[in-house]
Amino acid sequence: MTDKTINTDIQNMYEILGISPKVLDFCEEILKTLKDRFVEFDCKAEYNQLKVINAMHEEKVSDIHFSSSTGYGYNDIGRETLEKVYARVFHTEDALVRPQITCGTHALALALFSNLRPGDELLSISGKPYDTLEEVIGIRDSTGSLKEYGITYAQVDLLPDGSFDRDGIKKVINGKTKMIAIQRSKGYQTRKTLSPYDIGDIIQFVKGIDDRIIVMVDNCYGEFVEYHEPSDFGADMTVGSLIKNPGGGLAPVGGYIVGTKKCIENAAYRLTAPGLGKEVGASLGILQSFYQGLFMAPTVVCGALKGAVFAANLYERLGFKVVPDMSEPRYDIIQAIEFGSPEGVIEFCKGIQAAAPVDSYVTPEPWAMPGYDSDVIMAAGAFVQGSSIELSADGPIKPPYAVYFQGGLTWYHAKLGIINSLQKLVDAGIVKL
Ligand SMILES: *Cc1c(COP(=O)(O)O)cnc(C)c1O
Repeated sequence: MTDKTINTDIQNMYEILGISPKVLDFCEEILKTLKDRFVEFDCKAEYNQLKVINAMHEEKVSDIHFSSSTGYGYNDIGRETLEKVYARVFHTEDALVRPQITCGTHALALALFSNLRPGDELLSISGKPYDTLEEVIGIRDSTGSLKEYGITYAQVDLLPDGSFDRDGIKKVINGKTKMIAIQRSKGYQTRKTLSPYDIGDIIQFVKGIDDRIIVMVDNCYGEFVEYHEPSDFGADMTVGSLIKNPGGGLAPVGGYIVGTKKCIENAAYRLTAPGLGKEVGASLGILQSFYQGLFMAPTVVCGALKGAVFAANLYERLGFKVVPDMSEPRYDIIQAIEFGSPEGVIEFCKGIQAAAPVDSYVTPEPWAMPGYDSDVIMAAGAFVQGSSIELSADGPIKPPYAVYFQGGLTWYHAKLGIINSLQKLVDAGIVKL
């Protein structure tokens, strides 16, 4: 086959999937301008792939580690070796990587509850934390919160330019400040995502004030986006979800904490029980997906980054505000696009849903979700429920009518999803090419 026939075949396939030649051409023109960006992402993926493989070599990973344990799960060498692999990848003393950690919020709550004691203060220095942590901390009253246990909370917001407020931090740190929390990704806010390098600088600053302070970083959506992780720059705990980046789309559940021996020991005693710690926790046949997911994660993250930058370039050139913008560096896989109208958000999500491998025939609709003050629309046709390393999008139906999207297990799927979102916006008359 010549190149020409291959291209026509691809074009035909896009047409079968409902993409018009005009939309496809427009997208392909944009893609031509992104070659250098893609090379940069490929380099980072290559580095991270080698880092993961090296960790697996050093721990002599073998198929014996994929076997299952039940009951107490004593002497589960697969589980123990996986945790050693994580510790090597993140360059930490120890790791806790478990299916018994049910999600990212749970991993973060575990890190907090296990390392804080009544009378201690938690200080967030990246402003308001992720929504679900409000109830964990007790910012919004909730049964079982840190507040209920007599652990107080203080917060220093980021400066208007998105950097850390060093003077503010210095003023607020006091004798009770036991732990500092930093959230790398912006979550549903409009601030910039923090780079591991900026996080490293502020960790040094904080430790310079009081080196007993424990620094915890919420690393959700940030893993393998850069050459380094916050754990490379002195974070005592780095925390995330396995149905985001490090699970590589294969882990069906789970969370991780990597960090110092002491912090991980505390977390393990809280996850199971004092005295038991890391010694128990049956792996129930899930370990192969954790190993293989970690192995795939650098490539999967790379595809997600390509999708995010493609969408940023596409929609910025069509006149919409995008965060991060088309040329900014990336420190997580999330892309926000402001459509300025409910219809824009809805059509975008319909396009993402219709391109999904699972539930493509379903039409997403805005609905009232618990914990949100407006209707929310979500598009997700995922193999793993709620998995946001798979191509997914959601947006609250309120000004500025922004959609947040992320993921894509393969670049080609992310590409199709984004092209299809544009097709829906064109079909609805919201965008004219
Ligand atoms: C997703 C996320 C969480 C919570 O993770 P869940 O798995 O949804 O509980 C916490 N912080 C940030 C920044 C996140 O992106």
